Amino acid sequence: MFELDGRLTALRARAAEWGGDLAALAMDLDRDPDAVHGALDTPVMRHLATARYAPNGEPLTAGGHTFHLDTALEQVVFFEELAAADVGAILAAPGAPMAGPLVDLLGDDAQREWFFGALAERPTWVFFALTEPGHGSDAGGLETRLDPDGDDFRLTGAKRYVGNAPRARLGVVFARVRSGPLGVRAVLVEAPTPGLTVEPLTTIGLRGAALGSISMSAVAVGADRMLGRHLPATRRGVLSWVRVFNRIRPRVAAMGIGMARAACDYVRAHRRDLRPAERDRLDALDRRVEGVRQLNLAAARAVDADPADGALASAAKARAARLAEEATLAAPEFFGPGARLDHPYLGKLARDARGVEFMEGASNVQKLIVSQHLTRGGNRHDN
Ligand SMILES: Cc1cc2nc3c(=O)[nH]c(=O)nc-3n(C[C@H](O)[C@H](O)[C@H](O)COP(=O)(O)OP(=O)(O)OC[C@H]3O[C@@H](n4cnc5c(N)ncnc54)[C@H](O)[C@@H]3O)c2cc1C
Repeated sequence: MFELDGRLTALRARAAEWGGDLAALAMDLDRDPDAVHGALDTPVMRHLATARYAPNGEPLTAGGHTFHLDTALEQVVFFEELAAADVGAILAAPGAPMAGPLVDLLGDDAQREWFFGALAERPTWVFFALTEPGHGSDAGGLETRLDPDGDDFRLTGAKRYVGNAPRARLGVVFARVRSGPLGVRAVLVEAPTPGLTVEPLTTIGLRGAALGSISMSAVAVGADRMLGRHLPATRRGVLSWVRVFNRIRPRVAAMGIGMARAACDYVRAHRRDLRPAERDRLDALDRRVEGVRQLNLAAARAVDADPADGALASAAKARAARLAEEATLAAPEFFGPGARLDHPYLGKLARDARGVEFMEGASNVQKLIVSQHLTRGGNRHDN
């Protein structure tokens, strides 16, 4: 069993303290995703808006320690605690939780300065547009085109289920210059821009995420906006991104774990007179939360030791999504038939949990990654 040391315990305490501001926003965001605009001047939102998840990022201090959240381990500790407050509010925050690590990895000096400079200037939402109407889990099959236009490019295609797309001023779009895995590129775009249309999508869970669809018709992209242009082909494409995604996945798993915890905590706070069988059931859920947390901590340490080692992260993400779903469906059963009416927060949690299943890849696909890893011989990596 992995125990948090004093440093990580201080980080967890800081996240718990900041979580209060997210919890206060949870139901408002569920009603109206624009409610986030009234909460931007809180310490947690200010931090998320500029966090770079890299050693050179804006540090966070707690208990005399400094954190850049540049390890998966720090991230899982921090985000589980925020998620126990509200996952929708985390996703509603400005900043670049997915795009930031990619720009740090693949951007040249000018791109990094431009991108992170914009984030520092004012609260800025950034979309990360990978999923397409016909290609979600099968992201490698993406069809959005990046066609040459003199020295520059034109983007044409469609993206769907893109977080914060309707709010974003900047974005990363994944597109293809030719067929095959080495033919996919990531480019930086600004919004609004001619040819790029964003439509909000109506969702029933994680409404703070403000998902949108994006259509692009010959959107002009300067050559200087292509990430990894200074790197060899093998280092600027899919093979590099896999390492970024592997490091992000435990963070998403932590969100599922935090959500399951929130469901258990709510029951405990609002049903003080549990019958023995109910207490046993809640204790069993707590033990499952701890089990998946331990798996995720191991996954985070594995991916910190070797960013190509994402199999445990996939296992943790699949387990966390299932746990979130089961715990949030179990919680209303402690309150009888009218539970979701009497306790709207529990209804919201159950709706939100379905979203965790799809973030960062559905469980079937995570299981495929684990099985491929095992059949190829455990610690050997093909990415
Ligand atoms: C809250 C939220 C935020 C999101 N944010 C973003 C974002 O910022 N940017 C972005 O690009 N996308 C984002 N997404 C989209 C997300 O990445 C996709 O929903 C996910 O990749 C799954 O793709 P899909 O929805 O097309 O489902 P599909 O890939 O069509 O999957 C549908 C079902 O088929 C199953 N399935 C798929 N392939 C296989 C297989 N090979 N074997 C067995 N079963 C399979 C899946 O398990 C799933 O149950 C977000 C989604 C959510 C819910």
